[in-house]
Amino acid sequence: MSFRSTGKYDLVICDIDGCLCPESQAPINGPALSRIAEHNRWALQREDRPLVTLCSGRPIGFVEAMARFIHNTRIPCVGENGVWLWRPDVNAFDLDPTITAEHLEIVHEASALLRSRYAAEGVILQPGKTAAVSLYHADTDYLHSITPAVEDELLGRGWPFRVTMTWLYINIDLQHVSKATGIDRLFQQTGIDPARTAGIGDTLSDQFIADRVAFFACPANAKAEIRKSASYISPFEEIDGVLDILRHLTD
Ligand SMILES: [Mg+2]
Repeated sequence: MSFRSTGKYDLVICDIDGCLCPESQAPINGPALSRIAEHNRWALQREDRPLVTLCSGRPIGFVEAMARFIHNTRIPCVGENGVWLWRPDVNAFDLDPTITAEHLEIVHEASALLRSRYAAEGVILQPGKTAAVSLYHADTDYLHSITPAVEDELLGRGWPFRVTMTWLYINIDLQHVSKATGIDRLFQQTGIDPARTAGIGDTLSDQFIADRVAFFACPANAKAEIRKSASYISPFEEIDGVLDILRHLTD
């Protein structure tokens, strides 16, 4: 299971929210997504351009579905900020082997604590996560306002978490697991050379992608703090930006 193209890059590692679809509940642009699928079909048939795979904080089931929409049938995708890889060639889910039963128990305890503290305020724990917690609230300003207290509450117990904010979620991840460790496992499994990879992202959690690839790009909607790491910023937003970046990489 690997992939090699005759072009400059073998693989594009792309974030999902804010890149391939809105982070909100807004509809996904199906026609544009089908153009990424077409790109991947040509990549696999002609081996003349990089294959697009995914690296996201979303639950792995969401990432699997997106990988199937974009016709990546070959290279693993990263979900839950590195907790899981999904391997499309064999339909296998690989949990990061450094995540222990004790880690899972701490995540379970943290989930229960946060639910008891904040559920009555309307905070929702995103369903479908295994070794991480994501908090959502319809009022993003409210969610921002509780972020420091959430961090104090968890880290004060000595629990090994990293607490970060995307556009609409508070992400609580195990410190030693990230998009970067997920990508490292992807490289190990496939033998793909990091020097022949590109990445796309829109928020600070994608710094872990930028640190692992040879060329990093952002769509126009990317946050200021991640734009600094980009060699190219598309003038187009979200998936139109990704399509533009793919053209930029293959010209
Ligand atoms: Mg994003």
